[in-house]
This record gives sequence, C-alpha cells and structure tokens, in this order.
Amino acid sequence: MKKKLLSVILCLCALPLCGFAFAEPSVRWVDFNASEWALRACLKYEAEFYGSDSGYNFADAVAYLAFKNGNRFSKAKDEKTLKNLAERLRGGEKFHEIMPDTDYAAYLRTSYGAVLSPLVGDYIEEATGERKHGLRCPFPLAAGHWYNHYDDFGNSRSFGYKRRHLGHDIMGSVGTPIVAVEGGTVTECGWNRYGGWRVGIRSDDSLRYYYYAHLRKDKPFAEGMEVGKRVESGDIIGYLGVTGYSDKENVNLKSCSPHLHFGLQLIFSPEQEKGPKEIWVDLYALTRFLASYRVQAVRDDGGAYVPAARRLWA
Ligand SMILES: [Zn+2]
Repeated sequence: MKKKLLSVILCLCALPLCGFAFAEPSVRWVDFNASEWALRACLKYEAEFYGSDSGYNFADAVAYLAFKNGNRFSKAKDEKTLKNLAERLRGGEKFHEIMPDTDYAAYLRTSYGAVLSPLVGDYIEEATGERKHGLRCPFPLAAGHWYNHYDDFGNSRSFGYKRRHLGHDIMGSVGTPIVAVEGGTVTECGWNRYGGWRVGIRSDDSLRYYYYAHLRKDKPFAEGMEVGKRVESGDIIGYLGVTGYSDKENVNLKSCSPHLHFGLQLIFSPEQEKGPKEIWVDLYALTRFLASYRVQAVRDDGGAYVPAARRLWA
C-alpha cells in the first residue's frame, strides 16, 4: 500500500470560489489514504450515532482517524481509536470536544470531508419508497456486470508525455453500463485525446469533478448526455469501452483491455480546475467501499439501459 508523506499546505484565508466564499481553509494538496476497512467502520458507527447530539458524522470520523494515525491507516490501530471515540461519545462527550482544534485537524476535516461528505446521507429507496440513512453513492459499474481492479493510482503513463496515472482503472466488459457516483452537472461530454469518449460531472457544491473515460466506441453515452445536462447519483451516463489515446475520434486503445478510467478531482479554488495545481484522489479503497451499493440497470424498449432501484437523495 502506498504510504506517502503528507504534505500539509494550508491557506487559512477565506477564498471566494465560484461566487461563494469558503469558510474552511483552502487546501492545496490531499493524500486520501483512508482504508476500505476504516470507511466501513466509520459508516457502521454512523448508524449508531445518527440522530444523536454527539456531533459524529462519517466524514469527520475518517478525518479523526487520519489525525490519530498520522494519515497512515492500519486496522489494528484504527479499530482501537474508533472504539475509544465511540465510548467517549456514548459517555456524553461531543465530537467537537474530542477532535483537536489544530490547523492539521482542520486540514484533514476539510480534505476528507471534500471527498466523503456526499457519500453518506438521507435517501429514499426507489423500489420501496422507504426513507433511510447511509451510503447513497453507488459503484460506477452497474450491478450484475463483472469487474476487477487494483490500486494503480500514480502508475506511470507515457502516451503524449510522461505523467502519473491520476485515476482508477476498473476492468470490465465493453457495454457495461456506467453509473454516476454523485449527481451534478455535465461539464464535459465528448472526445479527449487521452480519455477517448468521456464524461465529466461537476458536483453541485462544485468541490468535486468526476471523470469517466475510455467509454465505448460508436455508442459511448447514455441517451441525452450533453454538456449542461443535470445528472442524478445512480443515473446511467454511458457504457464501458476502450477508446482513447488518439487525436482521431472514436478510436480504440491499442494493447489495452476494456476498462473504465474513473477519476475524482477536488477543486477548492479556481486555479485548481486545470493545470499543475489539479488535485486528484486515489480511488481504490473508495471504490471497494462503494461496491456494497451497485445500481441495477435494466433495458428499456429501445434496448438502452436505465437504472432501477436507486437510492434517491433526500
Ligand atoms: Zn486510467
């Protein structure tokens, strides 16, 4: 597992961003190291403390673990830390009294919160109409379609120029429906010389940009996908393929298996949108965590896939 020295660079002044002011510190780099185990454990405690006045929430609990473990997650240590946190909260202490009030703690809450805060919340089960609370962002490949993956974040890539792999590849079959993890607005939809047919979706709070690339040759996108379109979490946005690495449109990658390139960029300030200040997140543990909620996709009369039984954000 990748263990990197955390670079903590904080800018504590509030910066105006896209028309609204940021009360939180602006973050210039994020090492998202949370383990799958930590994500699942913090979600389990969310079920216990949700609705209480403890101040516990999923994203803050992961940030608390990162604070206590120096952003090096290990089950043995994290399990004890979480148990201890839960006991203190059950004993009547509040989360804000336990989480240290330091710049580093604030940085971790802001950076982990930027990735994790949308994942867990209130939702309505589309199938039953039941209101629930928990994981509400799905895995990006529809249910019933095989996949495999490993942690390939940061691996070297050479097409065009030498660079690091700033996303997560999920191998699968051509045509597997691709599901929007979080809702938002489509800001990119079309051909890119690296990503091939790709869709980019910006979250409503504009903090996250989701990038789904190498979509299927000839029919990459779901019906009606275009720049400006509103997409909900769980919507089918396109189909897995193997396009890209070409200036010419609609060309398949050579010597590559079909896969989804799934990327998540954090944007705390406008200069982080494009260029050397871009912040991309290692999504391996996160996608493994999301795998416990996969959206069923069924074919409509025209043969296109549509989602069934989503968790509709409430
Ligand atoms: Zn990739």
